[in-house]
Amino acid sequence: MKILVLGAGYAGLTVVHRIREYSNAEITVISKSKIVRENTIFPLLLTDEINVKDTEFNAEEALKRKGIEFVEADVIEISPQSNEVKTSKGTFDYDYLFIALGGAYEENFEKIPGHEHAFMHHTLEGFLGLKKALEKAEDGVKVFVGNARNSPIEGPSYQVALISEYILRKKGIRGEVYLATQSDKGVFGILPVNQISEKANYYFERKRGIKIIKGTYVKEIRKGKVILGNDQEIEADIISVLPTLSAPEVVRKAGLTDESGFVPVKLPFFIYNENIYAAGDLAKGMMPAKTARSAMISAENAVTHLLKLNKNYYSQGVLCIMEGGDDGGILRFDKGKEGIKALLDFNRTYVLIKKIYSRLLVNSAFNVPYHASLTF
Ligand SMILES: Cc1cc2nc3c(=O)[nH]c(=O)nc-3n(C[C@H](O)[C@H](O)[C@H](O)COP(=O)(O)OP(=O)(O)OC[C@H]3O[C@@H](n4cnc5c(N)ncnc54)[C@H](O)[C@@H]3O)c2cc1C
Repeated sequence: MKILVLGAGYAGLTVVHRIREYSNAEITVISKSKIVRENTIFPLLLTDEINVKDTEFNAEEALKRKGIEFVEADVIEISPQSNEVKTSKGTFDYDYLFIALGGAYEENFEKIPGHEHAFMHHTLEGFLGLKKALEKAEDGVKVFVGNARNSPIEGPSYQVALISEYILRKKGIRGEVYLATQSDKGVFGILPVNQISEKANYYFERKRGIKIIKGTYVKEIRKGKVILGNDQEIEADIISVLPTLSAPEVVRKAGLTDESGFVPVKLPFFIYNENIYAAGDLAKGMMPAKTARSAMISAENAVTHLLKLNKNYYSQGVLCIMEGGDDGGILRFDKGKEGIKALLDFNRTYVLIKKIYSRLLVNSAFNVPYHASLTF
């Protein structure tokens, strides 16, 4: 059996670790870079609690030890009709294909008018640029953090807002931090539990002094100013934004997406057709939120299906550990056969737990067997 995996992120690497645990199939992974970064820990770069080196590992070396071939190349064209994938290093064929190329952050960020006046708190470059700007911030600075319309991940924005507030406080300067949330219920307002957003809003507004602008999104950015979906204009010296998401263009061009921009898959198996699986940010999953934990769960389910393993299928939920400068927090919302588990709590200890978990992800090249999830 010849298995081709596109993308060496949370989903792609979970796929190959899990297949190798149960099978000696011929596996090839194709991804842009053999250096892979654990990006959920990036907010800690802003406070120097971690270094760039702490976030990265060499996927080629990790996979070689398991007899898995790694090809450092760009995926250029996916041809489901001929079971072939064209890359910058030649064409590869497959019996089974796993598409795990992530969400198109850069492509969608560049579509925001005036994006050049803002940082995107997703890439390493975005975080390093934001870090410099916060270090140089002076008395009276205004920081704006928000998301574009239909952006499926607000957790990083919450963390950037909290850390920005902390950095200004630590520097001893006055300033304002604005956080725009798409839900009119505010922070985590997308979840169907009102107590969570009420508690989160209280913490952000009353305890941390962050100004929440509820029920809107970033429509346009101009130098020193953000135009929101409700046409409200917010003046800001430092602007950081996450875009909406879709599957990358190479996947859309292959005709694998629907009107949502994501790959429709049969749930909970994450299968697209008889020999293609789509996992991670680019798949139309069980929840609108696009997270690393969901990416790994989709990969686990896809492998369980492919190899017909005698295992439960997991349900996707949301688990967000928030890094907030001198404090931290956790949000969990899981729904499965076992019922609903919902939790929001604030405590600095969660940051330590996240750092330990991040090391586990980096040291194992994303091979974590337990996701604290419920079953489907
Ligand atoms: C700051 C921040 C904080 C976050 N916090 C959390 C959190 O607390 N909890 C959580 O669960 N999630 C969190 N996330 C979300 C999480 O990081 C993403 O959901 C996750 O990266 C998705 O995994 P993936 O495997 O689908 O894609 P990715 O990890 O993006 O992997 C895709 C891979 O494909 C490669 N690739 C893409 N296109 C091509 C191409 N054309 N050719 C070759 N290779 C290609 C990429 O280089 C990459 O290696 C956070 C994200 C950010 C940015």
